[in-house]
Amino acid sequence: AKKGGRHAVVAFDPDMLGDERHRRFIERELRAALLMEELELHYQPVLGTDMAIRSHEALVRWRHQVRGMIPPAQFIPIAEESDLIVKLGEWVLRRACGDLAELGGLPVAVNVSPVQLRQADFARSFAAILQDTGTDPRAIIVEVTETVPLDAGEIAMANLAALRRLGVRIAIDDFGAGHASLQYLRGFAFDIIKIDRSYVANMGSSRIDGMIVSAVCEIARALPVEVVAEGIETQEQFNQLRLAGCSGFQGYLLGRPQPLGKPGNAVAA
Ligand code: C2E
Ligand code: CA
Ligand code: CA
Ligand code: CA
Repeated sequence: AKKGGRHAVVAFDPDMLGDERHRRFIERELRAALLMEELELHYQPVLGTDMAIRSHEALVRWRHQVRGMIPPAQFIPIAEESDLIVKLGEWVLRRACGDLAELGGLPVAVNVSPVQLRQADFARSFAAILQDTGTDPRAIIVEVTETVPLDAGEIAMANLAALRRLGVRIAIDDFGAGHASLQYLRGFAFDIIKIDRSYVANMGSSRIDGMIVSAVCEIARALPVEVVAEGIETQEQFNQLRLAGCSGFQGYLLGRPQPLGKPGNAVAA
């Protein structure tokens, strides 16, 4: 390991992310991490109503030599300020495609940043990676946060439409957390709604949150699209979500994000 890497450790204090110099430092370390294979994907299962695993979500981790595991919230926002998020996104997709066989051939969902979606050649690069890795587009789900397409305009919409034509499925992530949720339902072709985990967390104590979840499930059935609930931590939440009519279930109760091949990893046999 390089000497300079040691100083980087101090720079990881999230309080300092606002500091331009520290930000650039992390960016440089992350760029090196991409080359040095310090990034890895963990997979979290999504269960169907029959309790069988139906897909996995790929979640990126940075295993820093000194700092240990760094969660994405601490480096994705920095990557998004440069071309780094594009490189990172391509790495994630390529790795997820490579892992498909080990995931039992079940579909895998990758998170895509709004910054990636705004690149004119996003869909083309994405398709090239699928082709390169011999991946069936129908095995891939792209998760976009709901603030994206409506804000990001023509290019993002065209990219998503192009992927969808290939057979890639589109999920709206964190549904209900932004301001444009309902607009989505009328303007945009997608396949899956992922209910934001704040609704799942509040359902037990807030009657209105429970009603919103039920209403979203009802709309989803009519469209029709799938509804996945995320952040399920208790049996009560799980029961309530099943009653509400969700079709997919994700959360620590059902399986934590884990690297491939870990014992107890909820990966289909
Ligand atoms: P997200 O897409 O909403 O992912 C779900 C987050 O909730 C993950 O955090 C997951 O570990 C966590 N989670 C899952 N089940 C539970 C639960 O039962 N309770 C609680 N409290 N949390 C749960 P993680 O892995 O730290 O990822 C955070 C965010 O970072 C993701 O939110 C996503 O927006 C972003 N992210 C992760 N991987 C990637 C990636 O490869 N590319 C991009 N652009 N963003 C990514
Ligand atoms: Ca997600
Ligand atoms: Ca989410
Ligand atoms: Ca999110």
